[in-house]
Amino acid sequence: MKLSIVFKVFQITIIIMLIIIIVLTLFLQKNHKELQKAENIRYKSYVIAEELKQSSDDLTRYCRSYVLTSDSIWENKYLKVLDIRNGKLPRPDGHTISLLDSMKKLGFTKPEFDKLKVAENNSNELVWTEKVAFNAVKGLFDDGSGKFSIKASPDIEMARRIMFDKKYHDEKKMIMAPIRDFFKMLDKRTHDAVIAYKVFNNSLLRVVIGLIFLILVIGVISFFIVLKNIIQKMNVLEASNKLVMTKNDELSRFTYIASHDLQEPLNTIISFSKLLKEGYHDKLEGIGQKSIEIIDESTMRMRSLTTDLLEYSRIGRKVKPEIIDVNKLLENIKLDLTELIDKNNVTITYNNLAEVSAYRNELRMLFLNLITNAIKYRKETVAPEITIEFEEGKDEYTYAVIDNGIGIDMQFKDKIFEIFQRLHTNDQYSGTGIGLANCKRIVELHKGEIWVRSEVGKGSKFLFTIKKDLING
Ligand code: ADP
Repeated sequence: MKLSIVFKVFQITIIIMLIIIIVLTLFLQKNHKELQKAENIRYKSYVIAEELKQSSDDLTRYCRSYVLTSDSIWENKYLKVLDIRNGKLPRPDGHTISLLDSMKKLGFTKPEFDKLKVAENNSNELVWTEKVAFNAVKGLFDDGSGKFSIKASPDIEMARRIMFDKKYHDEKKMIMAPIRDFFKMLDKRTHDAVIAYKVFNNSLLRVVIGLIFLILVIGVISFFIVLKNIIQKMNVLEASNKLVMTKNDELSRFTYIASHDLQEPLNTIISFSKLLKEGYHDKLEGIGQKSIEIIDESTMRMRSLTTDLLEYSRIGRKVKPEIIDVNKLLENIKLDLTELIDKNNVTITYNNLAEVSAYRNELRMLFLNLITNAIKYRKETVAPEITIEFEEGKDEYTYAVIDNGIGIDMQFKDKIFEIFQRLHTNDQYSGTGIGLANCKRIVELHKGEIWVRSEVGKGSKFLFTIKKDLING
């Protein structure tokens, strides 16, 4: 299949998936809000249940205290609780709303509301009983029409009997029982709603993570298909030695466009993966958390790959050699690496390096790669010491970048200059295996050679030559 078609299919798939991810993320946010609403209703219903129970107990206590002491302070307290409960006086939080109305605001089903109605009726009846007790203490008695117009001597005994006998107790139970039923129903319903939202949320999240994974997998596969093809073609072309330069140019251009275009969707994936990590990493556990970590790691790795490939494809594009002061070039590189150098206590030494005619960006990339490798592959307990040496030959200059790092097994001396070949692949040394392949291409562009001398555990010396006369050389 033609590479450009593979690449287009990959791009379109990623765009479609990104759209799906955006829609799902919006859903996720909406669902999250609903979940918070359901949890809020649940919390409020607990508060109201507590208040109802508390106020009912207060009423009983105040009325009983009154019939025992005949002190009007208890009657005032009793009336205040009743007024607050009926929405005639403000509650402690400043709102003036009856308990029944606050319950209605939570939004009930019909069976829940019916239970509440029963409780309210029973409660009104109990208030009536308590009123009879209050009035008996004052010597006022019911005339049969609901008015306390019969005056006689106070009957404290009767008042106490009303408030403490079994009948009162039973009537009180009849208020609390439907309220308990009501809250059981409400509790079950809101609990189910919260669980349903949570399940839905988790499934959505899994789909989003799954899709991002899929994008990554498709991304990585297409990426390698493209690469493999490019490299195969380059090899074939180099072997047949026909039109190498033009074809290489074409392929470089293609690598450039491919890696450049890959970076665009990749940046979007990286933003999403960051969003995921910040928003959901702590909310998930086990495989969920691990997946987010893998996504983050893989996206960062893909980014270094595309960046290195961009460099690979840029080598030798539309530039002319210039006379370059290598000392200044190295000063510049040191400035760029200040943070890395300070962090690792690196010393870089060089003296009076000659001017050379070279491609500026490429020569810079060459030194930068060798120096960053010398720092990256350092020995854990030893501060990196890098020396850059220079020697003038008949037709060429030879440069050497020497380090005191972990060194390289010499049986791999050629392999390390091939693309994607890495010797140290544990977590400590992250990399793409493109750096030295880039160096080789740069040196070849300068009609020179690059090689390494090294001893494991002692350090490495990377040497390269540059022809004096680059144009005719
Ligand atoms: P990477 O991205 O892995 O650093 P490179 O192409 O720059 O890729 O290097 C290829 C491999 O050569 C590295 O993975 C590492 O194992 C080895 N290597 C490169 N430079 C050094 C060095 N200065 N010291 C020891 N090993 C090195």
